[in-house]
Amino acid sequence: MKHLLHFPYQNVLVLGLAKSGTAAAHLLLDSGVSVVINDLQAEENDQNVADLRQKGAEFILGSHPISALEHMGLVVKNPGIPYDNEMVQEAMNKGIPVITEVELAGLIHEGSIVAITGSNGKTTTTTLIHEMLQASGALAEIAGNIGKVSCEVARSTTQDTTMIIEMSSFQLLGISSFRPRISVLLNVYEAHLDYHKTLENYQKAKAAIFSNQTKKDYLVYNADQPVVVDLVQEAEATLVPFSTTDRVDGGWLDEEYVYVKDEPVVSREGIALVGAHNLENIIAAVVTAKLEGASNKAIKHVLSSFSGVDHRLQLIKQKDDRMFYNDSKATNILATSKALTSFNQPIILLAGGLDRGNTFDELVPYLNNVKAMVLFGQTAEKLAEAGKKAGVPRILFADDVSKAVPVAYQHSREKDVILLSPACASWDQYRTFEQRGDMFVQAVHSL
Ligand code: ADP
Repeated sequence: MKHLLHFPYQNVLVLGLAKSGTAAAHLLLDSGVSVVINDLQAEENDQNVADLRQKGAEFILGSHPISALEHMGLVVKNPGIPYDNEMVQEAMNKGIPVITEVELAGLIHEGSIVAITGSNGKTTTTTLIHEMLQASGALAEIAGNIGKVSCEVARSTTQDTTMIIEMSSFQLLGISSFRPRISVLLNVYEAHLDYHKTLENYQKAKAAIFSNQTKKDYLVYNADQPVVVDLVQEAEATLVPFSTTDRVDGGWLDEEYVYVKDEPVVSREGIALVGAHNLENIIAAVVTAKLEGASNKAIKHVLSSFSGVDHRLQLIKQKDDRMFYNDSKATNILATSKALTSFNQPIILLAGGLDRGNTFDELVPYLNNVKAMVLFGQTAEKLAEAGKKAGVPRILFADDVSKAVPVAYQHSREKDVILLSPACASWDQYRTFEQRGDMFVQAVHSL
């Protein structure tokens, strides 16, 4: 297990325990650093707390007293804690650096780093790159927003390991020297404005991914988005564009192939993943994986079998010539509209969930291919309104996702797509979107 060598801070405050704080605290303690952990929710009798206490950590639980900052040289903040938090503000006023744990990962990992960010498509692209590198026989570890915490993964990597890190804007705000060999900027849509306050701040956070890169490093970016093209003008890294519409000096496509520069890498016929938005993720992944040494054979192999990350427009089953897709992660209208434009066949749409007060008028133009809707949850009636406006022939209701599946099946025919893409968060009936998706999958398998 690696430790932090030559770490200049002796006293560190870990703000927010959770998964990332726990991993950071263990790394710091094992490196001989004094650690104070401040958390509002953790309980004195948590096993986690007991383990860390045994290693020498001190705890301040239940409140955020400003006095905890005394003698601190550094704050490691949970990415979810906003910068207007009083403690964070005070630390910054005092000139104490505030980082996120991924910065620590960058300090101990000796191999190369591929970091992926964007408003949408991060998990899909990160997973694809990881699989392509693994299939090429490379040592590759996935980390970040997805799976394990980066600074924990980095403790057991070698200099031959590539870390593939999915990064949110929240994590990116807390880096200072973190430098990926390849950074990937997929897209920038309006998102997380409750945290970042302005779109400009959000864009700046995304741009942090390339802030320490030099000419020797690569920045793979979406050349179809003017806002991304503007942002990357400031980068020192070697720019590698990708596009779904133009032939660019990076990744692009025509009717038949996905290319990197002049080389046709994979035939589009051999790609299992559906959805126009996924083409962007695929091209970005192909260019990046090739820069990191993946073989064309491995890339082709992965793309022929990869049918989606769990709960993201994922093909679950083909039964009696009907296709069942789980897109439970589609918790807003934009995501569901993307799913609906991914198919030419008639769709039976399963949707509904938490009511955030919005209407679903924006969904109406995308419903023309929908032959039936099976609706559930708090928004069932509102979605039915949208369905009526769009002239959807059949509008049905069910108590929940599990009950919606047999109803959908009953009204389906050969060649239909049965799609769970709820356009709403899951919290009115389920703990998480994953639980909702799992219920759907179970119901499909027990048909
Ligand atoms: P993230 O990790 O950024 O949330 P995912 O890969 O998990 O992204 O995909 C989540 C949802 O975002 C998908 O179900 C799809 O609706 C949408 N999406 C994925 N990729 C893109 C893209 N390149 N552009 C726009 N929307 C996308």
